Amino acid sequence: MKITVLAGGVGGSRFVLGLREAVRRRAAEGHGGEASPDEITVVVNTGDDVWLAGVRLMPDFDSLLYNLAGVNDTERGWGRAGETERVAAELREWGVGWPWFTLGDLDLGTHLARTAWLRDGLTPSQVGERLQQRWPLGAKLIPATDTEVDTYVHVDVADLAPTDTPPPAGAPTRAEMHFQEWWTRHRAAVPARRFVQRNLADARPAPGVVEAIAEADVVLLAPSNPVVSIGTIVAVPGIREALAATSAPVVGVSPIIGGKVVRGMADACLPVIGVETTAEAVGRHYGARSGGGIVDGWLVDESDASALPSLTEAGLVAAAVPLWMRDPDTSAALAEAALGLAATIRSE
Ligand code: GDP
Ligand code: CA
Repeated sequence: MKITVLAGGVGGSRFVLGLREAVRRRAAEGHGGEASPDEITVVVNTGDDVWLAGVRLMPDFDSLLYNLAGVNDTERGWGRAGETERVAAELREWGVGWPWFTLGDLDLGTHLARTAWLRDGLTPSQVGERLQQRWPLGAKLIPATDTEVDTYVHVDVADLAPTDTPPPAGAPTRAEMHFQEWWTRHRAAVPARRFVQRNLADARPAPGVVEAIAEADVVLLAPSNPVVSIGTIVAVPGIREALAATSAPVVGVSPIIGGKVVRGMADACLPVIGVETTAEAVGRHYGARSGGGIVDGWLVDESDASALPSLTEAGLVAAAVPLWMRDPDTSAALAEAALGLAATIRSE
């Protein structure tokens, strides 16, 4: 079975690890027929990517890479295990990069390799292929687009530096910063007014992305940030169209449980696009493919079961299952539930 997943970093990695495990279990039990881990393709968000200290960072791609390779830091939740920060200390002394954004030494090795290959003329997706040759991942990662669509956040100047003195006439009232600055330096605490993905209108899906969606037996939306992860992927011209056209059932998993984001600060993003922080609102925001949306099925947490009638009314095939991914078992069970809902939709 060919399974294509749209994913961001943290929620995306946990979900894809669970999916890989679920597919392995299916293969071991002999049901699911030819199912093999090699048939998972992950279309990865590139909206968080940034040039920093002369190197190209692709944080969501690297999160998936490190997690699937098993070289991630499980305690901290991001980056490489056994990381050191000697180079970062030197960069700080030189005043290069962002002092509040630590680049680990091992992680920098990845960024240097990526940047060297980009300078040699490879595209980000070709670089991604090279990076994946180092470890057996059990899944194929493709950046959503080779175009640099780095996300910028518009904020009110008054929110940035609150002061009692009114600004001089004609002074700009809005400021713009890279998503990483808003997220990491400001911890998403400065209200965002708008997210702007640069070059988005001219972006194209990376080679293989449209095919992975078109030729899939199942398409899954990981429980990733609906605005800056899934939202950016789907906004790449051609990807929404591919989702609309695929004959595969498309099933999404809510990143919101009981009106709260599970990990991270996605609750600072949803209001910017006028969507409530609930599993129901995100499901309705994605919308049923039958009505011009992007999903057929929508999984909410058991504690959000009261949203099911309204989701059904919105044309979605909805189900309530445990959505907390605590460990490989709970993540695999969630992935299995998503595959199960997809099978139900296919047989309808
Ligand atoms: P980022 O790129 O690192 O921000 O990660 P993603 O965009 O992939 O995922 C962020 C989202 O993952 C957040 O909105 C969380 O609510 C969600 N998330 C994290 N852990 C879990 C979990 O165990 N279950 C569910 N359902 N969602 C989760
Ligand atoms: Ca991310």
